Amino acid sequence: MDSFTLLIASAVASVIMAATMYMMFRASPRETYLLDWSLAGLFHVVSGCLGLVASSYTVPYLVTPALGNAFYVVGHYAILVGLQRHFGYRPRVAILLLLLVAVVGLHFLPFARAAVANRLLLLYPIVIFFNLWTIRMLWKAPEGEARPAYLPLMLLEILFVAQLLLRAVVVAFGHSASLTFVGSQFLQTSGSLATFVFLSVATMSCALIVIRRQELVLRRLALTDTLTGWLNRRAMQDMAEREFQRSVRTGSALAFVIFDIDHFKSINDRFGHAVGDAALRHVTAVSAGALRGYDGCFRIGGEEFAALVTGAELEEARHVAERLREQVAAAPLLIDGNTISITVSVGLAVRGQGDISWEDGLRRADDALYHSKQNGRNRVSIDKHSVAAPETGGNLAAGMQAMA
Ligand code: GH3
Ligand code: MG
Ligand code: MG
Repeated sequence: MDSFTLLIASAVASVIMAATMYMMFRASPRETYLLDWSLAGLFHVVSGCLGLVASSYTVPYLVTPALGNAFYVVGHYAILVGLQRHFGYRPRVAILLLLLVAVVGLHFLPFARAAVANRLLLLYPIVIFFNLWTIRMLWKAPEGEARPAYLPLMLLEILFVAQLLLRAVVVAFGHSASLTFVGSQFLQTSGSLATFVFLSVATMSCALIVIRRQELVLRRLALTDTLTGWLNRRAMQDMAEREFQRSVRTGSALAFVIFDIDHFKSINDRFGHAVGDAALRHVTAVSAGALRGYDGCFRIGGEEFAALVTGAELEEARHVAERLREQVAAAPLLIDGNTISITVSVGLAVRGQGDISWEDGLRRADDALYHSKQNGRNRVSIDKHSVAAPETGGNLAAGMQAMA
């Protein structure tokens, strides 16, 4: 492989990177960091093209190596910028321009002008620095399902830094005085090859990050109720099944709380659908405060909700349910100058010995909710199978009632 062929290959790889990232951006305009990565590809295209021109014609020093190398450096920096944006930071694109000018400026130092090797020794640390920064950012990516998607890019960056370090050592201590811009020397050929591999694999790795993120966003949307932000019935199936199995295996307690807004239809009828929606959001916000942060919260019907209270025996679950009822009743919705009192009826059941699936517990909680509705609303009822000991009356908070 000669260096010229590899320069062409690298330029083609960078065109593919720029085009792929741009097309992905057009398909998903919210993923704005794709533009940074497209720009990264474009900078490498410019750098590669300048290299190609310089290999055939005599060009001013400003064009090659100065501008060629500067575009190469900002090409690496643009990958980091895209990653910063991906993680929610607001990178300053103006720094790209400053960096470009600074790297061009470096080429006019007498040291840089003196030899190719000197320029490499000046540029390698800058590129290594940006690549290490990229690795650090990927390494610190939040734990979660998206994390594995960052590994290919991280590995690629690590390998790229490793070969740059190796090359820096060879340049610093080897016989590099004979280096020319495009020669057949192993050092330069391997450099072009490394760039070609880097750009090709970076394109795939960046695409993987985007695809993974979109998959997770879609999955979250499919499992979340958009009005309240609570999980939906489908999500409950997965979570309840998991918690039920865990509870059976470890013998830990599991409680099901179902609650339904009382006379919700009349809120819609009197104040309109929009206020009804606000009431739904209000009730979920208030009840989330009554539930423990790690309880699963679900909207399972129009104005019907469920909570999975894990690790709670009947007494603790009963307190949670009663606290929820009390807090909703104590927090009327203030909207458009209206004060709208809202109450909920609650049903509670704990996992019993005879339960074959989580649906048994939920059904019993639903029966208890029905009991609350039948007995005046704004109350908590406990499924009769869940009450291990006969009702003691004194233990029950006001408004609470065990089913007969
Ligand atoms: P109960 O005390 O027996 O539960 O009476 P209710 O009026 O709360 O119950 P009902 O089942 O008669 O009415 C529920 C209403 O909830 C009917 C439906 O139009 C309304 N609803 C369901 N989903 C939504 C929603 O997303 N937004 C709004 N604003 N209303 C909704
Ligand atoms: Mg209702
Ligand atoms: Mg209902």
